[in-house]
Amino acid sequence: MSLVKTYRVGALSTNCYVIQDSATKKMAIIDPGGISAALDKTIKDLGSENFEYIILTHGHFDHIRKVKRYKDLTNAKVVINKNELDFIFDKSLNLCHDFGPKALEPFTADLVLNDGDIINLGKTRIKMLHTPGHTKGGACYICDKYLFTGDTLMKNTMGRTDLKSANIKEMANSLKRIGELKENYIIYPGHGDMSSLECEKKNNPYLRKALNDSNIY
Ligand SMILES: [Zn+2]
Repeated sequence: MSLVKTYRVGALSTNCYVIQDSATKKMAIIDPGGISAALDKTIKDLGSENFEYIILTHGHFDHIRKVKRYKDLTNAKVVINKNELDFIFDKSLNLCHDFGPKALEPFTADLVLNDGDIINLGKTRIKMLHTPGHTKGGACYICDKYLFTGDTLMKNTMGRTDLKSANIKEMANSLKRIGELKENYIIYPGHGDMSSLECEKKNNPYLRKALNDSNIY
């Protein structure tokens, strides 16, 4: 994989990413939670037909709000974890009611994945890890040396565990699982700055606690 572009979108400054397979130039958008003029330009410049997937880390409104728009622009397949499907239409889960009834244009998922499932973006393998805790079907995606963590693991922090379908024990287990991955992945989170797994293991208090003591929650 050669390209990771970051776009900050929406009122909550969600990180939306574009990744590209270097061999075939095929691309995917991760978490189009808002409109970005820069993302629109990337799609125009690199060719909407080269976008294969819209990959979702989870179903909160700030990560899915413009899926329909970008699906229409690219004809890409929407990828989501099986346990997160309710979020697409349930406003009490995706929380889009906070921003008015028309905030989320309906869309359908095309590829519903389970933990460990792999999709191919050109010659790049993208593996889904089901990491519940922030939401019941939250997911992280490994591709090459990159780890897209959504709102599960963020630089020096973790996602909220007080929202509907969140579970702090599951979050601790998910953080532990991420922390036990062998490679020093580059972390691309759902909000805030990028990091690395080694940095997070040193500095992130939630990840450290999850790794050192599974009974603290
Ligand atoms: Zn979230």
